[in-house]
Amino acid sequence: MKKYDFIIAGGGMAGLSLAYYFTQSPLRDRSILILDRDPKTTNDRTWCFWERNKESSGRGLNDAKPFESILFRSWSRVSFHGTTYADSLDMGHYQYKMLRGIDFYDFVHCELAKHPTIERKQATINRIKDTPQGGFVIADDEPYIADYVFDSTFLLKLDQPENHNLLQHFKGWVITTEKACFNPEQPEIMDFRVNQCGDCRFVYVLPFDEKTALVEFTLFNGKLLSDAEYDSELHQYISCFLETGGYKVSETEYGVIPMSDESTQENPSEHIVRIGTSGGYTKASTGYTFQRTQRYLQSIVQNLIQTGKPLRSTPWFKKRFKLYDSIFLNVLEKHRHPADDIFTRVYTKNPRRVFKFLDEDTRFVDELRLFATMPFAPFLRAFLDVLRKKIAG
Ligand SMILES: Cc1cc2nc3c(=O)[nH]c(=O)nc-3n(C[C@H](O)[C@H](O)[C@H](O)COP(=O)(O)OP(=O)(O)OC[C@H]3O[C@@H](n4cnc5c(N)ncnc54)[C@H](O)[C@@H]3O)c2cc1C
Repeated sequence: MKKYDFIIAGGGMAGLSLAYYFTQSPLRDRSILILDRDPKTTNDRTWCFWERNKESSGRGLNDAKPFESILFRSWSRVSFHGTTYADSLDMGHYQYKMLRGIDFYDFVHCELAKHPTIERKQATINRIKDTPQGGFVIADDEPYIADYVFDSTFLLKLDQPENHNLLQHFKGWVITTEKACFNPEQPEIMDFRVNQCGDCRFVYVLPFDEKTALVEFTLFNGKLLSDAEYDSELHQYISCFLETGGYKVSETEYGVIPMSDESTQENPSEHIVRIGTSGGYTKASTGYTFQRTQRYLQSIVQNLIQTGKPLRSTPWFKKRFKLYDSIFLNVLEKHRHPADDIFTRVYTKNPRRVFKFLDEDTRFVDELRLFATMPFAPFLRAFLDVLRKKIAG
């Protein structure tokens, strides 16, 4: 059996990003096998994320913006509709960006095709296990082995009662309207004018042009809705708040993202590394995963080059952000304060700080300033509850 240097189990966002970073690094000639049951030839999702305006250093591992050339849209201002504020937010040094899945898959597949040592196989993975010889994978009953297996197919089980386990779930429609009713210069990142039903519920509107947009109804809670309920909320939002003059739905998107502070095993054994959602890369308090995955994978490749080991570590002083995430999840899960008011405070009182904070790049003093804009008692109660759980656990 041929032994690969690396097997990438799951060629979705994380797997293909990792393969792309290998091609941009001194490891570009290593033998790599990418296994996925899906050919990734459809636009199965759209990623949005924010990014700091920095001059790009050109393509390469150190390029802060590797997928800039294939962005579908990017914006310098965004709209926000909260409880006491309805206007645009100046994002300062940040831009809000939108990348279509299909553009990302095509771009990376095309780059990988230039490298004869990288193979892609469409197969269903049945098993991944560690052996003394390396990481071992069985896919469509065929065995494969490699020095390291990067696994983005592992299904997280997030069910420990001492942790906070919410879900971000959403359904979106790409609609084309009769009347021009969207502002292509400004996406709506959160519109809370929907019935909260005691949860955190909002709508995103990501305009492609004046007559086309992705309208997405999103919830943060513990329970999925039926398909008809998402549809009904979307219908209602569009008829109440958009003057469409009639519309057609051309695409739909549905997703569930874990919002959990449960510890995940990024390195379950010597030759296996979990990446992407499987590696716990999702930011627990927001569900955003795309940019963190890019950062984390770049640091894994860098470590492989420098030490021969694909490990990643979080500096101890950055671990405070996990505590902040837990406190926020506790406030949401225990309904300690209305979520629409919290987000209104976060975005409108900290517009220049919030994106940096969510990227975990702020200094402690900035974090204190942001916390000072939050309702004190509910967050204090949440902090004490998280502390109590940690001590008990
Ligand atoms: C609809 C949707 C929209 C999202 N939007 C955003 C967003 O706007 N911003 C953001 O930051 N995050 C977003 N996310 C969250 C996150 O960025 C995505 O889920 C992202 O795709 C996660 O990357 P991944 O590689 O971990 O998983 P995936 O991209 O899902 O890749 C996993 C791959 O493994 C393959 N696979 C799984 N099991 C097997 C098996 N047994 N055998 C073979 N192959 C297998 C799958 O086919 C898939 O291609 C979104 C998620 C969804 C579902």
